[in-house]
Amino acid sequence: MNDPRRYVVIGGGLAGLAAAVWLAEAGKQVTLLERRGRLGGRTHSLEVAPLRDVPDNGQHVIASGYEHLFRYLTSVGTRQYVSFPQQGVLRWPGGRTAVMGTTGLPALRALVGAHPDASTADRLRAAAATMRMGWQCLRQPRDLADLTTDQWFRRLGMPDTAREALWDWLALGIAAEPVRQESAKVFADVLATGIRLGVKRMRPVSIGYPTTDLDTLFVSGAQRVFDRHGVQVRHRAVARRIRIADGAVTGVELAGGEVEPADAVVCAVPNSYIGGLLDELPEHDQIYSAADKLGYTPIVSTNLYLDRPLGTKAAMEALIGGTGVIDEVFDRQRMHGRGTLNGWLYCLTTSGAYAQIHKPHQAVVDEQMALLRSYYPEAAEAKVLHAQVVPMPRATFSQVVGTDGLRPGQATSVPTLVLAGDWTRTDWSATMESAAQSAAKAVDLLLALPAAGSDHSRSTRTAGSRK
Ligand SMILES: Cc1cc2nc3c(=O)[nH]c(=O)nc-3n(C[C@H](O)[C@H](O)[C@H](O)COP(=O)(O)OP(=O)(O)OC[C@H]3O[C@@H](n4cnc5c(N)ncnc54)[C@H](O)[C@@H]3O)c2cc1C
Repeated sequence: MNDPRRYVVIGGGLAGLAAAVWLAEAGKQVTLLERRGRLGGRTHSLEVAPLRDVPDNGQHVIASGYEHLFRYLTSVGTRQYVSFPQQGVLRWPGGRTAVMGTTGLPALRALVGAHPDASTADRLRAAAATMRMGWQCLRQPRDLADLTTDQWFRRLGMPDTAREALWDWLALGIAAEPVRQESAKVFADVLATGIRLGVKRMRPVSIGYPTTDLDTLFVSGAQRVFDRHGVQVRHRAVARRIRIADGAVTGVELAGGEVEPADAVVCAVPNSYIGGLLDELPEHDQIYSAADKLGYTPIVSTNLYLDRPLGTKAAMEALIGGTGVIDEVFDRQRMHGRGTLNGWLYCLTTSGAYAQIHKPHQAVVDEQMALLRSYYPEAAEAKVLHAQVVPMPRATFSQVVGTDGLRPGQATSVPTLVLAGDWTRTDWSATMESAAQSAAKAVDLLLALPAAGSDHSRSTRTAGSRK
């Protein structure tokens, strides 16, 4: 460690953890400031006290193309806790199911023919529309940012069967917004990233899941890296303002007035928490305004412990053609190989949960159980042994029409201040990969700065002060 500069990371979510881990690996002196009493941000485990069980704040799925997230998992030694199943299940009310391949040829087949009621004409139309969609992802029409995903699907001529069985819920999963609100450009950009990665890796991107809780996956390993490299973690340290003088960062002011000295800062807080922190940055108005316009979207997760199995056919099942109250059911027995002493645990996710977010927890549980009963014959007599509802009103920034081009980049006009977080500009939507990718970009910017004390470092600092 021959760099005397102090690197401060604000925010202990995935972006902040990744930035701190990678700076520490590069031999830098790092302090991590986290406003809460725990690390992990929006990806963390939650204890169900009476059961001493630790399900998560919300089921997280992982695309095989999450290159930066896998780099992070490798750094913290938990890469082995991600599994990619060969198939998922689509389920309709009454219990009818269709198996959908997630890798290789079966996955390609699923692109056009996953719906059991699709006619041959439907499948041909779906194939043609899917080709058109792929092409338009890579060569985007000028007006794509003005369209909702729903409008785009209709313009592409995507048949209803293909939309119901695949595209509508995939779009909801990718941007956590219903297709009638979601920006077609957000969806197209993510598909374009997926297509490029698929071509580069010579296999399509598939969807997997953690086989352990989120704390074990993301936090415990980071803590081991921090211990090894002497990273100082300060819990309940609420950053209020990043101090800047002469075009360079000098410290981070905390609630209470204390100043944490800093020579470089990675600001890795979500858009809804950025207000005030950047007041001394010349372009703060622009960033605050973008953060405001990006807003947020709610997700409600429910961890249901039932007295019997639901009779799932796969670890991940998408509920199709219903009210859209739950989009996915995750069978934790299949995913984690867990025992059933506390009952059978199912994690349910409702994305774009505008209608559910303010409901009392019991109402959410009743609604979800009613839905499960209509989809799973085995649930007819099932009893809820325990339920945990996790409403997240600000689950992710919103990706509706009108948000295109708002996400700020990681570099700022002050070279020693960089931004990170899922909402900063990356080639993914609001995802863990976006958080990890933003951290990689932010760290690269800091590591590219001239060495401390060099003439070039002094001239960069002066140039920064003139901006
Ligand atoms: C229920 C749910 C399900 C999801 N499902 C998926 C999924 O399946 N796949 C996927 O890829 N993504 C999913 N996501 C999105 C993913 O969780 C986020 O994109 C990612 O975790 C964001 O990480 P981040 O570090 O950018 O932000 P955060 O995790 O929010 O971290 C920011 C941290 O900054 C701290 N902080 C804020 N202000 C301050 C301050 N002033 N001082 C100090 N600390 C501060 C916060 O306390 C927090 O710990 C889901 C999100 C939710 C909520």
